Amino acid sequence: MKAATYFLETFGCQMNVLDSQLVAGQLRELGLRRVHSSDEADIVLFNTCSVRQHAEDKVLSRLGELKPLKRRRPETILGVIGCMAEREKEGLFRKAPHLDLLCGPGELYRLPALLAEVSQRREQVAALAGSQSRRTKVAQRAFDDDALEAFDLSRLAALRLTMPHTADVNILQSYVRVQRGCDKFCTYCVVPFVRGPERSRPPRNIVEEAQALVDQGCREITLLGQTVNSYLHQESGRPVRFAELLERVHALEGLDRLRFVTSFPADWDEDIFRVLRDCPRICPYLHIPAQSGSDRMLKAMKRGYTVAEYLKLMDTARKYVPEIALAGDFIVGFCGETEEDFQASVELVRRVEYKSIFVFKYSPRPGTTADRGRQDDVPYDVKARRNNELLAVQSEISLQQKQALVGHSVAVLVEGHSKAARKARSAGVGSRQLVGRTPHDLITVFDGEASAIGSLVNVRVESVSPLTLFGRIEAVVSPPRPARG
Ligand code: SF4
Repeated sequence: MKAATYFLETFGCQMNVLDSQLVAGQLRELGLRRVHSSDEADIVLFNTCSVRQHAEDKVLSRLGELKPLKRRRPETILGVIGCMAEREKEGLFRKAPHLDLLCGPGELYRLPALLAEVSQRREQVAALAGSQSRRTKVAQRAFDDDALEAFDLSRLAALRLTMPHTADVNILQSYVRVQRGCDKFCTYCVVPFVRGPERSRPPRNIVEEAQALVDQGCREITLLGQTVNSYLHQESGRPVRFAELLERVHALEGLDRLRFVTSFPADWDEDIFRVLRDCPRICPYLHIPAQSGSDRMLKAMKRGYTVAEYLKLMDTARKYVPEIALAGDFIVGFCGETEEDFQASVELVRRVEYKSIFVFKYSPRPGTTADRGRQDDVPYDVKARRNNELLAVQSEISLQQKQALVGHSVAVLVEGHSKAARKARSAGVGSRQLVGRTPHDLITVFDGEASAIGSLVNVRVESVSPLTLFGRIEAVVSPPRPARG
């Protein structure tokens, strides 16, 4: 079969979104065209997440839905890439025998060769950490790091082939990876097992990639790492830490906004706050997961900080940047979590007054310390109730914060049509509703022409909901920026 089209669906976090963008670049270089339904595709890929059972169940269900397609068109190549491939390994072939390809997140640079292999041999192919013939561990690690670095930098070639705002790549707001893997081994988390140890990319390459994106019309860059603030790279014999990296990217001419996620509370370096305060294009927004408001739970999760230390960090953030927007993650129903532990999380949410929180119901992940050594003893209905209760507390806080903005003007980067407008337009109903975000990461919805997409505008806030600001455009501050040269 000569494949001409591909369908790529992404599950999970921003790191996966970035990996999918890079995979899309690889496939485009092979001359493949992206389609938006698996029915029309010669290659169907799912870029998967293993962080929660629910995410894996969704992929298994999508794979099940594709059985009739594989029966009808057996030459279609069906692949699972990313964290679930790495976690399940060849066992996934047993669960889904119609699957052709497995590729872990550390092997994505091999994807074009793997697709060719499947196409020629018509056999199941797997590329997973440890599945290659290993020379020494150290030599193999160096080889993989170089290959992964080339995978990230492959975007530079792909950018030269692509104009901004194509279906494959959102250039306006782009992610740039600064770090791979994680060394923290929180007891509930599968990431260190599927993405390997923490490694920081060379600052020169990060800056070069960011500059190329800005040259193509990117206005907002988000630096990505599992624990982004632990970034550390030895450059010509001296350490470059995250604060310095932020300053270097901030200095890029033409960049309007700079963000970074996700921060790890225990590794904080006060220099980062100084840079946040002094560099005006770094957005006043910090995503810094707490996971629990109970020291007992934090210890059981092996997070490496206490509630008092976390609160001190939040207070210090507000001392440096008083208007900073704080976002947090919480797990409810972790092994042994009592009502008292949970109420401590509620108390923490009230005390910090986050802009927003993400709440996850604990689900055991095979291979993790918590799964091996602790009992998942909080019933599902209790987890669900705690999840809703925490979100309800946050919803009150978010509404109050947003109500204070009614009548004020906010700066918004216009990202595109709102979800409601896209739905209406696909049903044949015209809608001019646009959506964008403020530097504080507040979603803002307003009417405007499609020509405003990509511009920076001021929006007067007229009404709010807990999640959204609604308003009208007052002024275009800076029109969409064309690609240079
Ligand atoms: S810091 Fe903890 S939760 Fe975050 S990726 Fe690493 S192990 Fe997982």
